[in-house]
Amino acid sequence: MQEQRKEPILIDGKTIASTIKEEIKKEVADILDHGQRPPHLVAVLVGEDGASLSYVKSKEKQSQEVGFTSSVYRFPATITEEELLQTIDFLNNDDEVDGYIVQMPLPKHIDEKKVIAHIDPKKDVDGFHPINAGRMLLSLPSYLPATPCGIVTLLERANIETAGKSCVVLGRSDIVGTPMAVLMSRKGMDATVTLCHSKTKGLKEICAQADIIIAAIGKPAFVTEDMVKEGAVVIDVGIHRIKDDSEKGYYVTGDVDFENVKKKCSYITPVPGGVGPMTIVSLLTNTLKAYKKEIYK
Ligand code: NAP
Repeated sequence: MQEQRKEPILIDGKTIASTIKEEIKKEVADILDHGQRPPHLVAVLVGEDGASLSYVKSKEKQSQEVGFTSSVYRFPATITEEELLQTIDFLNNDDEVDGYIVQMPLPKHIDEKKVIAHIDPKKDVDGFHPINAGRMLLSLPSYLPATPCGIVTLLERANIETAGKSCVVLGRSDIVGTPMAVLMSRKGMDATVTLCHSKTKGLKEICAQADIIIAAIGKPAFVTEDMVKEGAVVIDVGIHRIKDDSEKGYYVTGDVDFENVKKKCSYITPVPGGVGPMTIVSLLTNTLKAYKKEIYK
């Protein structure tokens, strides 16, 4: 008789995120009950990039759902770097703004690194400023970048053991892969981390040894069944809109070949509904911390 395969457990980011949002909402209600103003999150949006528009809309909606004040500063793609830096100065000096994000990518004529460095680290709720990145490296209190922070929370809330496990992070971007590798190797998570990128040799074999794979490559269905060890935990960070004939005109998928990889996993995140909702929730958590001056006293 053939052994029945066990289904993997789906890590339900949507439900975990909504639980955390309820916790934030309660805290905000308490703040209002004490006669204080609510936390205020601002998003700066430059240009008309479709994905950026929808991310900012979602951040705005979810901020409002937890009771935050939410504002969006919209600018055309023709804004100069100087004008954008002036806006950042304004936000840095506005005592009614607790935290803000500048939605990336910015148009090519604007230096993203210069813009990020101009943000007051105390209001940098995306955790991209070099001071916050450095503090994270040294395990000092800092705003953690939203996506890696969301993944750590996801693993914790799903009770996934990470101590002593081998973890492969695919991708080394400043906003996902690199901070993810740092956070997984820190005390508390205690994984043994391998960070892979486009120059890595023997990627398939490295992945096939991993207890935990975190895929942030930016290529649809990159992680295939043969790259995954039996019983591994797979976290899919990728988001891709693939055109199809549906009413919406596209479907959303990740960096993992979900249907085939799931057959080998113990746990896996779906796309959508896995990492995505956790990213926004981490931004809300950081904003609440900024409001309460928890990171920088
Ligand atoms: P990115 O800046 O494009 O970085 C991709 C990384 O993957 C780079 O480090 C690159 O290596 C590496 N890579 C590319 N092709 C590779 C290959 N064939 N083999 C090994 N490594 C390879 O992307 P990102 O901003 O980190 O985003 C990654 C994915 O996550 C995207 O799909 C993005 O949409 C998604 N994302 C999702 C969320 C969320 O909330 N769920 C948030 C942010 C991003 P090199 O450094 O050598 O070029």
